[in-house]
Amino acid sequence: MENVLISNLQRFSTKDGPGIRTTVFFKGCPLRCKWCHNPETHLTVSEIMYNRENCTLCGRCVRACPKGAVTIENDTVITDTNKCTICKRCTDECYYNAREVVGKGLTFDEICDVLERDMAFYSESGGGATFSGGECLMFPQMLTKLLKFCKARRIHTAVDTSGFAAWEVFEKILPYTDLFLYDIKAFSPDVHKEVTGVDNALIWENLEKLCSLGANVNLRLPVIEGCNADLSGIEETAKKAASFGIKKVNILPYHDMGKYKYTKLGRDYDSNSMATPSDEKLEEIKTIFKNHAFTDIKIGG
Ligand code: SF4
Ligand code: SF4
Repeated sequence: MENVLISNLQRFSTKDGPGIRTTVFFKGCPLRCKWCHNPETHLTVSEIMYNRENCTLCGRCVRACPKGAVTIENDTVITDTNKCTICKRCTDECYYNAREVVGKGLTFDEICDVLERDMAFYSESGGGATFSGGECLMFPQMLTKLLKFCKARRIHTAVDTSGFAAWEVFEKILPYTDLFLYDIKAFSPDVHKEVTGVDNALIWENLEKLCSLGANVNLRLPVIEGCNADLSGIEETAKKAASFGIKKVNILPYHDMGKYKYTKLGRDYDSNSMATPSDEKLEEIKTIFKNHAFTDIKIGG
């Protein structure tokens, strides 16, 4: 049966759109934003996360691994990702919850079961289902099926996206999407490329087309000192988005709460080059959007 890799299926979320929501985090993303707090969603394969703080160095995982992928070196457990087949024997054998597999293949029915279970919360709170990631538009078939399922049950739908996808995918999901949570990470193409790894021309093109077709769009603007917090770029972003008729924005100040996940995945995280913008700066950004006739401006998710 067809399935899709999900890094997390978060119930009772209040940060990913209106009301109480169930957020489906697809695993896989074409961007590599420097500040990303969900690095476990980057790759389209399952991965082992290792928590050194819980580990007693008992060696059970080393003995359990049939592939010889696990070793203990310098008081830490190392997993050779080239050898690991995600058979989960090591995680089953670890008594201390120091190892976990991130990325679970779920079928359409399995995801729908969870969404259906939470329907009472949606109707009471004005919530619904949010499809996020990673980049959920990397999985157009499953995403479209899930959106159609929600529409048939009158579940409000939100799609949280970087905008970096073929227009054909947006065209396909538009009739079933009540709200787009649309990230703009930098106005300047050069800055965008530098901080995310991809060009932003397609992202702006898709946004313009969506707005011209009447999509309900809430802009999301991550603001990271050292990356994209230049006020002139933010001014240009507000101006261009306003010219498309967008009125809603969430200003998302940088935090490093995802830092520990990089450690657990054995990856580097460059926290020294990034910082949270000051309250004064955030107020200035709010004013920029107000001056461009945005009517719904929030700081935070
Ligand atoms: S089984 Fe768990 S606690 Fe023991 S060495 Fe492996 S990761 Fe550490
Ligand atoms: S998941 Fe399986 S193959 Fe991978 S490290 Fe653990 S025991 Fe070895």
